[in-house]
Amino acid sequence: MRDASAYLAGLRDGREVWYRGERVEDVTTHPELGIAARHGALDFELAHDPAVKDLAITDGYSTFFALPRSAADLRRRSSLIEASTAHGKTLVVLLKEIGSDALFALLRVTHGTEYNDRVQAFYEHCRDNDLALATAQTDVKGDRSKGPSAQNDPDLYVRIVERREDGIVVTGAKVHTSCTPNVDEIIVIPTRALAEGEEDWAVAFAVPVATPGVKLLCSDYLHGADDPWTQPISSQHKMIETLTIFDNVFVPWDRVFLAGDTRRAGQLALTFVEYHRFTAVSYKLPLLDALIGLSVALAEANGIARASHVRDKLTWLIGYAETVRGLTHMAAERCRIDEATGIAYPDPLTTNIAKWTFARDYQEAVKHVIDIAGGLLVTGPGGPDWRSPELRPLLEKYYAGALPGAERLALLNLASDLLARNYAGYQSVLAVHAEGSLEAEKLMIWRSYDAQPARAYARALAGLDS
Ligand SMILES: Cc1cc2nc3c(=O)[nH]c(=O)nc-3n(C[C@H](O)[C@H](O)[C@H](O)COP(=O)(O)OP(=O)(O)OC[C@H]3O[C@@H](n4cnc5c(N)ncnc54)[C@H](O)[C@@H]3O)c2cc1C
Repeated sequence: MRDASAYLAGLRDGREVWYRGERVEDVTTHPELGIAARHGALDFELAHDPAVKDLAITDGYSTFFALPRSAADLRRRSSLIEASTAHGKTLVVLLKEIGSDALFALLRVTHGTEYNDRVQAFYEHCRDNDLALATAQTDVKGDRSKGPSAQNDPDLYVRIVERREDGIVVTGAKVHTSCTPNVDEIIVIPTRALAEGEEDWAVAFAVPVATPGVKLLCSDYLHGADDPWTQPISSQHKMIETLTIFDNVFVPWDRVFLAGDTRRAGQLALTFVEYHRFTAVSYKLPLLDALIGLSVALAEANGIARASHVRDKLTWLIGYAETVRGLTHMAAERCRIDEATGIAYPDPLTTNIAKWTFARDYQEAVKHVIDIAGGLLVTGPGGPDWRSPELRPLLEKYYAGALPGAERLALLNLASDLLARNYAGYQSVLAVHAEGSLEAEKLMIWRSYDAQPARAYARALAGLDS
């Protein structure tokens, strides 16, 4: 298994990455993208950390690539995702998490097809070389009321523009793709179900990031988080999303996992999401624990720990976090086994209820912690003032609460980073949209729940035939 330095060395390969209008020569040494690369390296440090090593390695390979066969395997995977996110100080690392979600889905959906041997070979390549992977599912999508073939511009969903003897050529763009500048390979899968006549858009493949024609235009949303005192998390941890453009990219057949099968395109989109929402709820848990801990610590710092309204808010936060945790564990316990492959997957109904519960109530949770913290979240002092020998004694004197000023401000800065500054905005949108929007989760809950037994019970209670 690779260590952090081997992983970072692999990223210096001439990939086409753009940040704030400029081409980036080396993503590992760039002042901002380098933070994302070092954050990504955490997934590689796990296997060398005595505290998590046993969890991080399974049969000599990264546990992330271990095919789940049982509820216990899914629980183990969930625990590892939780542990790696805790190392990332509430920010998911996602270098092996999302890619393995896609690999499991590909192995299941292509079972029994001509593509399966290629997927198996690619899976082994990723596992044996301990690769970092991005998964580009979300297309730019254009007019949401129209499918790919009805768009004014056919490139708004990634599509096959040429079929050759040695492979295919693809064009189009995916969006919001996490970690792309600092991974080895990009796995591309369809976003949605497709209709007959949309064969060109029914495409799944994988390419190394440095493939000619792959252009990564990075979001700079977290730009400027450069003060470790006021931004203790976001100055050291970052995930970069890209507009991932495929400009006539050649993909050899051994890397093509779907080409023209519209039925399997929809299956693949959904099967990936079955795993990915389980990954999502697993990685949310450290953030929810942090919100509870921060509320307790801030209440102490402000001298309001015994107030009844604070206890009420803390109880709400505990109930929220433990509901998401309980549902996550239950999704593993209620897992299903795919008959054809023997690969386990988390129960879709429970997974979607877990993800929906998290996303639906996240803003409410943030509101409670902001309430306990007070207005200093947006009016507090900056790092240069704190570091000024002349001003610091004043800040320590006037910002003291039930705890010394230095401690209270450290907690408030953490809260400000998590709840009020740019990183807070990032977490807030991540909560609602990443791994599918709220409506997508509700749709899956509706589809997964069999209402017939409940209906029959109600009719029987009313004295009616079922
Ligand atoms: C921080 C972050 C990281 C992400 N990382 C990744 C990643 O690594 N890989 C990846 O593939 N994706 C990634 N995503 C994308 C994520 O899955 C999408 O944001 C999500 O699926 C919503 O898609 P969208 O952003 O295009 O919004 P939209 O789909 O445009 O949603 C906006 C609203 O429109 C509604 N809507 C959309 N279509 C319809 C319709 N046909 N009818 C009615 N209502 C509709 C939605 O329900 C929602 O209310 C990431 C997103 C974020 C925010």
